[in-house]
Amino acid sequence: MSNSAPNRAISIIGAGLAGSLLAILMARRGHRVRLYERRPDLRLVEQDAGRSINMALAARGIAALEAAGMMEQVRPLLIPMPGRMLHDEHGQLSFMPYGQRPHEVIYSVSRPGLNKVLLSAAEAAGVQIEFERAATGADFQEQRVTFQSAHSERIEECPLETVFATDGAGSVLRHAMVEQLKLECTEDLLEHGYKELTLPPLPGGGHRIHTNALHIWPRGGFMLIALPNIDGSFTVTLFLPHQGETSFATLNTAERIDAFFRRHFPDAHALMPQLTEEFMEHPVGIMGTVRCARWAHQDRLLLLGDAAHAITPFHGQGMNCAFEDCRELDEALAGQSDWVSAIADFEQARRPNANAIADMALENYLEMRDTVRDPKFQLHKALSLELERRFPQRFVPRYSMVSFHPEIPYAVAMQRGRMQQQILDELTAQASTVDAVDYALAALLVEERLSPIVNAEDSH
Ligand code: FAD
Repeated sequence: MSNSAPNRAISIIGAGLAGSLLAILMARRGHRVRLYERRPDLRLVEQDAGRSINMALAARGIAALEAAGMMEQVRPLLIPMPGRMLHDEHGQLSFMPYGQRPHEVIYSVSRPGLNKVLLSAAEAAGVQIEFERAATGADFQEQRVTFQSAHSERIEECPLETVFATDGAGSVLRHAMVEQLKLECTEDLLEHGYKELTLPPLPGGGHRIHTNALHIWPRGGFMLIALPNIDGSFTVTLFLPHQGETSFATLNTAERIDAFFRRHFPDAHALMPQLTEEFMEHPVGIMGTVRCARWAHQDRLLLLGDAAHAITPFHGQGMNCAFEDCRELDEALAGQSDWVSAIADFEQARRPNANAIADMALENYLEMRDTVRDPKFQLHKALSLELERRFPQRFVPRYSMVSFHPEIPYAVAMQRGRMQQQILDELTAQASTVDAVDYALAALLVEERLSPIVNAEDSH
């Protein structure tokens, strides 16, 4: 495309989390933005039950929201979660902090609440939003994207020029690239699915379990988690295999569902009076990882967010990563007239990071549902925090790098995390408490193995 004018006509497809934030960023740069969304305006209609009602927002997401000037409006929606609250089979609780500084906190936020705020801000910034317009395909010969309106039979279209596709994990635009441009892309579905349920508030509106935590019931092959909502309820999510002896396939009667929860999650069971009805009504969600060899076709079409790189939810980073895409793209395009090169550079820098968080999210599933219960794991967590206190610029726990340090790219966090894991293994080979660790050896290992990576990163 030869358009070198600073202000462009941009089409964004999908007004979910990434699409609406990107629309704000682009409109604030002076571009003319049209945002197409398949669903009705969620500010006017109730959204479906059982669709990821809340999520964890962390520093990468916050940095992007700040770049768009949105944090003031978003802050009232947030509930701080400074750590995990583990529930064992007998209802015994133990709290594990995520970080060790006051700001090292993640936040529970309502998905529709956040999306509504972003949509209104996009409109206020001059974005034209077309609801109930589903993209049905793209034609790379004719250079157009086609839409079906919910209100007419007529097929509508927009030019395939500066189109950002934020249409989620099942992206129609990605499929069009796969079919017509032979884009190499893998979609790996997890053997586990999820179901969302409700732990209702107290009659006066308070929370029935500790408000400021991400609650986890780790049970090895499966797990339950709960995140707080501002109305006093919790959104509870069961992660379980689709098939097999203990699976969604076998939890198919009210008696079985009730017995399963009573046995494995007795404390949650006692607080969820509508458990079986909700379980029977709500859908089982699928999860997976999408990886593509490319995201862009010149500057005509760029996939972003889940459309480009859907990941599993076990690091609480899908939205955070999608928001970071938007912030980095906005920075990459600012003041550039050659968007083909700017987009190519953005994609080249960003793709290794998307791949890294996809890998770390998969690794985290095992941690959340299983290894978190292991005393060795708990020793490693405590030692990680101690090493961070002793060697603050060098040793940063991997969870903290991902969740609290947006200046550390995901791929670097993964590389440093691997090296740190080796150090933790070596230091705890002989020591079974934090006090018993040989800190002279720790200093040596940190200097030898971490300093080169950190120094290399600092010089970039
Ligand atoms: P989406 O939010 O899926 O938005 C896509 C939008 O495009 C939707 O509005 C959709 O209606 C629209 N659309 C789809 N097709 C079309 C079409 N053909 N035409 C027009 N519009 C279309 N991430 C976190 O950071 N923290 C968490 O705690 C977290 N928890 C999660 C829990 C679960 C169970 C799941 C499944 C995911 C979780 N995620 C979390 C990931 C997060 O939900 C996604 O990464 C995030 O929603 C991606 O945003 P997006 O805008 O790319 O896609």
